[in-house]
Amino acid sequence: MATRIRPASKKCTVIGGSGFLGQHMVERLLDKGYSVNVFDMRQGFENERVHFFIGDLCSKKDLLPALQGVNVVFHCASPAPSSDNKELFYRVNYTGTRTVLQACKEAGVQKLVLTSSASVIFEGKDIKNGSEDLPYAKKPIDYYTETKILQEKEVLGANDPANNFVTVAIRPHGIFGPRDPQLVPIMVETAKSGKMKFMIGNGKNLVDFTFVENVVHGHILAAEYLHKDSPLSGKAYHITNDDPIPFWTFISRVLIGLNYEAPKYKIPFVLAYYLAVFLSILVMILSPLVKIKPTFTPMRVALAGTYHYYSCERAKKDMGYKPVVSMDKAVEKTVQSYAHLKKAS
Ligand code: NAD
Repeated sequence: MATRIRPASKKCTVIGGSGFLGQHMVERLLDKGYSVNVFDMRQGFENERVHFFIGDLCSKKDLLPALQGVNVVFHCASPAPSSDNKELFYRVNYTGTRTVLQACKEAGVQKLVLTSSASVIFEGKDIKNGSEDLPYAKKPIDYYTETKILQEKEVLGANDPANNFVTVAIRPHGIFGPRDPQLVPIMVETAKSGKMKFMIGNGKNLVDFTFVENVVHGHILAAEYLHKDSPLSGKAYHITNDDPIPFWTFISRVLIGLNYEAPKYKIPFVLAYYLAVFLSILVMILSPLVKIKPTFTPMRVALAGTYHYYSCERAKKDMGYKPVVSMDKAVEKTVQSYAHLKKAS
């Protein structure tokens, strides 16, 4: 295992600190005695212990004031995958991350911890206990993932221990937990509209859903174990709950916890997949006449019906990572936090 070197200065900046993961990161960093700057396009919360810098990460001029005197930068900003905006993903995740790297170097930042994604190696086909040695997807599942690959390559390629600038990428998968604006609210909306009746496949496909506190723990460990002689320098790490769960079991547990019915009918994976392909072709043909944004896409079918879980052995070995919250506790905490979305019984 690498040596843990607590930074001489515990001053850090969280880029994207107003987002779901970012806010949890900020709270934990404050608990651990870090002094925290948040750089984001918006101020997502109030906290008098945090110094907010509002700006666009694509602008070095905006970034530089937020990086002065800072030892570690956590970069967890990204446009939402659901925005489906190719140009925006490229501008922020790829070009913007290059700007972040330049600004870090100019400001004398020593460490950059990037939030990447385990989807950088996923092509819509089963991955069971996949390690970080698997190659990047040649056919990424969407533009968002395409730019997460470019982003990770830029960050790891910028690792430069000789010049006292080291980088690491953390690859979480399916982050969930209190205050997530996406996963649980969307599940509840879908259940309310009566569209949560079917599961795709046989319901046995294991995936990683990772509790936000475990993801945060992985990031902070990475920052503390990252230094110029450490094995972490220039590498990517999966951070998971180390407890893959069948996709539909997870969905059902959350829905039942909130008094909604779990999906009970099964559609064979191949049937669902080709139906989604057929619908996408239809939407493409009709696109000059009507604009439709289908939700039943081949990519979503693949995510719901295949195995995609990852090994976190490398993180255990190099930084002593171990999840801090079990899957059972994580689901319980999440369900409790969404009490306001509970269906009246
Ligand atoms: P989020 O949308 O809640 O937060 C992202 C934050 O980035 C937002 O506050 C947004 O304002 C900010 N941002 C976006 N563009 C910006 C710009 N140009 N300049 C400054 N700030 C900008 O997203 P999240 O779910 O917290 O995800 C955090 C990170 O984790 C992202 O990098 C995402 O790719 C990665 N990730 C998320 C998941 C997941 O399941 N949520 C899974 C794997 C990886």
